[in-house]
Amino acid sequence: MLTTAEALDRILAAMPELPPEAVDLTLAAGRVLRQTVVAERDQPPFDRVMMDGIAISHADFAGGQRQFDIQCTQMAGDAAAELMPGHCIEIMTGASLPANADCIVPVERIATNDGVATLEAAYEPRAQQFIHPRASDHAAGSHLLGPGKRIAPADVAVIASAGLASVEVSRLPVIRVISTGNELIAAGAPIKPHQIRLSNGPAIQTLLLQHGYSDCAHDHLVDERDVLRERIAGHLREADVLILSGGVSMGKADYVPEVLAELGVRVNFHRISQRPGKPMWFGTAPGGKAVFALPGNPVSALVCCRQYVIPALSKASAAHTRPPEFAALTSDVTFEPALTCFQPVRLVSSSAGEVLAMPVKTNTSGDFTALSGTDGYVELALDESQFPAGTPVLLYRW
Ligand code: AMP
Ligand code: MG
Repeated sequence: MLTTAEALDRILAAMPELPPEAVDLTLAAGRVLRQTVVAERDQPPFDRVMMDGIAISHADFAGGQRQFDIQCTQMAGDAAAELMPGHCIEIMTGASLPANADCIVPVERIATNDGVATLEAAYEPRAQQFIHPRASDHAAGSHLLGPGKRIAPADVAVIASAGLASVEVSRLPVIRVISTGNELIAAGAPIKPHQIRLSNGPAIQTLLLQHGYSDCAHDHLVDERDVLRERIAGHLREADVLILSGGVSMGKADYVPEVLAELGVRVNFHRISQRPGKPMWFGTAPGGKAVFALPGNPVSALVCCRQYVIPALSKASAAHTRPPEFAALTSDVTFEPALTCFQPVRLVSSSAGEVLAMPVKTNTSGDFTALSGTDGYVELALDESQFPAGTPVLLYRW
């Protein structure tokens, strides 16, 4: 049986890269950048005034002057005026510094009367104050952003400042989430005592949405070979990635692996030495499309989706990998089986600034109620069974 690391390596190696596409800047947040973004101009593009007030020549002040005739008013967006000796220019934040001016006195420090600005008594302005010098953030032509960056709101500002109305990003994967099981009834539909509410589909869709993958329609299939074969074949034609849940264990109605084989999906592995989620299945369809078949138990399905499917989609999107995160256990954990344990946790922070992981007990891998209120899970190594409080462990946030 594969270890968790081997399983992830195999999945990542099998993921084909999605092609790039251009999107409007306002739709780019959360997408993965596929181009370099270079500064269109110096930033700021001129000596930028940082306060509302007056622009003066500091030499006039140094020569003893404290009253200045107001020559004119210059707003942000106006071309820079030329300051006359002994005068001031009324100036607004964001304006281009007037020629011959080298000092901004804030409006709070002056009194104006009859076209004359007088400095507050004892106020001593410094030369160059409240001026954001041209190119002090970056010069024209500077490299601002590169491929692989997941675009955050601040990046959108950078891209807009570079003058780009649209940007190249990875195409979103077309994902189909497929719940299998005769017993499953969707929320909203009448249910009988022996039936189970279908919860994996919406939970997986939500996890995908949270990670930026919005094209993830859901289908529910009963445990019948013909139905599974026909409907999965249809989804394989339409989608880049299939995420099935249920039907991969040892039960008599667990037809998923054999149906996938009939459809030409080549098995890469079946089972990982972990709990929850040991029965997980992964394969590749003709054309390199990835097929994840997760165990049906809700805790297993969600953990497997976060642990394997999310990194796989990130790889396919050509995103930079994030550095691993760690947290310290708040209490002792014992886990005897020779398996990697994914232990759900709630995060708290210590007054020393440490991230602490509080283990949250789940009754079984079907006990998804316990997951509510958890922030993620930690990985407890395969080759150990005692994890004392304080042990640093790998952390995965949902
Ligand atoms: P299976 O892997 O198909 O044997 O399912 C294992 C357990 O998970 C069974 O108790 C199923 O009823 C339950 N299960 C499977 N799929 C879902 C689902 N989509 N939503 C909620 N429970 C499920
Ligand atoms: Mg089932």
